[in-house]
Amino acid sequence: MQLMIRATPAQVGEWAARYVQQRIHQFAPTGDRPFVLGLPTGGTPIPMYQHLVALHRQGHLSFRHVITFNMDEYVGLPASHPQSYRAYMQRHLFDLIDIPPHQTHIPNGNAVDLLQECQDYEAKIQQAGGIELCVGGVGEDGHIAFNEPGSSLSSRTRVKPLTQSTRQANARFFADDVAAVPQEALTVGVGTILDAREVLILAHGSRKAIALHHAIEGCVNHLWTVSALQLHPRSIIVCDDDATLELKVKTVRYFCELEQHSPLLDSMN
Ligand code: PGA
Repeated sequence: MQLMIRATPAQVGEWAARYVQQRIHQFAPTGDRPFVLGLPTGGTPIPMYQHLVALHRQGHLSFRHVITFNMDEYVGLPASHPQSYRAYMQRHLFDLIDIPPHQTHIPNGNAVDLLQECQDYEAKIQQAGGIELCVGGVGEDGHIAFNEPGSSLSSRTRVKPLTQSTRQANARFFADDVAAVPQEALTVGVGTILDAREVLILAHGSRKAIALHHAIEGCVNHLWTVSALQLHPRSIIVCDDDATLELKVKTVRYFCELEQHSPLLDSMN
């Protein structure tokens, strides 16, 4: 695992966008060999999306040969609802870049057969060759995607009831009305995320500090599903200073030294 610490949420977003750009360029995708990117929603990745859009507008990044798979979607919210993750992705990224619409995938939370939808989603990821880089956020309770506390660390895409604390945290997107937040979501599993060839988790703010402590200094356990990153050979967390508040000074120093020793971004980037 590597931990990259930046001063502000904007710098977290910029670092993550430049890393995504670098990985796409290194991969040099073509129509026959596309780059498969896992993507998150929520408040955290918005600065990353703004920066990715800026890189695209400046002519520095094309998504023509990128295939995306989003992590999750609410059950029962129409795709046209402004808080559906499909609407979020169109608004913050897909409508603003050159990705062909058929190359963007989000689980359909309105499918008649949700179980089948989940199985088909896993199959589509496999057919695309697996996820090359999976970008995610983390919940205050340590969830990655919507893998709430207690989720199996080998779970696959499935229907997951949302915890009260997640629904409360997301009420801010529903005019502070917890009752308006859907009770279930389709989510890729922890196992699906661990199958990605690389995982990049973004976090900022002191609200995420305890989750980061469990992710980095805690034991691997299903109550803090983000801790499963410790099992992944190529995982990165990029966070701001505030999100490190619950980490030991020793831990922070170690990761700062590691960054100096093994920088992840090319200096030309
Ligand atoms: P947030 O959500 O980015 O809105 O804080 C993160 C998450 O729940 O994964």
